[in-house]
Amino acid sequence: MGSGNGIVPAIQLHNGLEMPRFGLGVWQAREGDEVLRAVTAALDAGYRLIDTAAIYGNEEGVGHAIKTSGVPREELFVTSKLWNDSHAYNDAIHAFEQSLERLGMDYLDLYLIHWPLPMEGKFPEAWRALEKLYNDGRVRAIGVSNFKPPHLEKLLETCTILPMVNQIELHPRMQQHETRAFCTERSIAIESYSPLMQGGAVLAEPAITQLAKKHQKSPAQIVLRWHIQSGFIVIPKSVTPARIVENIDIFDFELAPSEMQQITNLHANQRIAADPDYAQFK
Ligand code: NDP
Repeated sequence: MGSGNGIVPAIQLHNGLEMPRFGLGVWQAREGDEVLRAVTAALDAGYRLIDTAAIYGNEEGVGHAIKTSGVPREELFVTSKLWNDSHAYNDAIHAFEQSLERLGMDYLDLYLIHWPLPMEGKFPEAWRALEKLYNDGRVRAIGVSNFKPPHLEKLLETCTILPMVNQIELHPRMQQHETRAFCTERSIAIESYSPLMQGGAVLAEPAITQLAKKHQKSPAQIVLRWHIQSGFIVIPKSVTPARIVENIDIFDFELAPSEMQQITNLHANQRIAADPDYAQFK
């Protein structure tokens, strides 16, 4: 279940659940027609993992697209996230239930704490709520997002279930070596968000455009292939049907070790999202 469509490789999370290593992100896909069309195009193209969040305001459209697609629910892997205003235990349970209701589903595959908000220090309480949801069988895996090693260390002091996934900003310009090492040592899977650097500068890097030419692929496909060969789960966002098809078409070629290294050399510690130590938007 939830392991993709045969093209997309899966990763086994530390609780044994199989998660597709490639999917569609829908941040900034507008609720209504836009998200409906994007998710429909993705499911038609073979995507089976969809990454949404309460704050994206498009869970209803995601749920609607899934329902009308005809793809059986058990073949899909649906992620949503707990927003920052709901870290208190009861609020977290309620927020999860509201996400399920908007999605029109009776379980989620993965539920993440969206941001740690270390200045508030309530994420261990939110985690207790996620553990309860997991133990009650309402979600098949639980994890975190934007957690740095100190946040994870604090969580590990009180948790009874280790997060299965940490979803973090990760692209060739921001490679998150410390967080990756910390998570890998503890069998926490790494999921790359903003993998294309939001369609930004990384796609114009000469190293990337040259590899694109050589492999007769697009710059985005080269970058996404780098994520896959690096072992990450990757969730590029697009609302453009041709790009949605293009982005999943990365399983018929391989980057050589020296080509992987050329991309890895682009690291510049360049964040485009907020620094999780300071982000406190609600
Ligand atoms: P991405 O790196 O996925 O880039 C998305 C942008 O790139 C869009 O503008 C899209 O345009 C464009 N694009 C997509 N495919 C191509 C292509 N083949 N060629 C050129 N441009 C392309 O950025 P996101 O920030 O959206 O990250 C992906 C997902 O990660 C989000 O949607 C969300 O699910 C998740 N995320 C999670 C966060 C968290 O805090 N946990 C934070 C940020 C993202 P268009 O849509 O117009 O085609």
